[in-house]
Amino acid sequence: MKSLGEKPEVEEEVLDTASKKVKVAEKKVEKRKTETPKTNTEDDHVEEEQHGEKVLVMPGDIIGTTEEFEAGDNTYIVRGDILSLATGFVMVNKKRRTISVKPTTSMPPTIKKGDILIGTVVNVRDSMALVQIEGIKGVVDRQFIKPGVAAIHVSNVKESYVKEMSKEFAVADVVKAKVINIENMRMTTSGKELGVMVATCANCGSTLKKDDQVLKCAQCGRTESRKISSDYGTGII
Ligand code: ZN
Repeated sequence: MKSLGEKPEVEEEVLDTASKKVKVAEKKVEKRKTETPKTNTEDDHVEEEQHGEKVLVMPGDIIGTTEEFEAGDNTYIVRGDILSLATGFVMVNKKRRTISVKPTTSMPPTIKKGDILIGTVVNVRDSMALVQIEGIKGVVDRQFIKPGVAAIHVSNVKESYVKEMSKEFAVADVVKAKVINIENMRMTTSGKELGVMVATCANCGSTLKKDDQVLKCAQCGRTESRKISSDYGTGII
């Protein structure tokens, strides 16, 4: 098999299939000899080939059509398209004309304590702000398991005492926060670079500009208070 690696692609494919057929035949002989029951999965594995480049697909990705293939393991059909049900690599069984997804053993990253998250404030209460998580710093957004909503408790907003949460956060603010507890998804914005990244004017809806320690609206002149990140307005995560 190794020596075939340098041959042109088309030729390799033909030879590859032929050698695989031999292997299947050998397997069948072996099966008769030993009378050990073997599962179909094992034969399928021999027939299956990686489909094209080794591309990682995610649940919902279109991997083929029902005109080309039959939907195999870890796939489903929507209006003639075959989609992946799993995170993994696309496999094609040329003999049966099935396309399937071989799940990867390593799952997309889940959120860990200490991760820096980006999210949108969805609720501000006296004791906490609730944040819809949109991304993890340093992780491609589609490749992580979204935890939903996380909370920033009034005691974790900043180093100094917070009297009113409404002076630290507002609904629709984009915030950068650090995970401090995974079990109940608690975050902190204590720290220079953590806090509100983007906020809009409660009066006219314009994006607020950072003006020293407060946020100002260039349109209507309104001033608002927030726990501002040192990266406010820069887009830097
Ligand atoms: Zn305004």
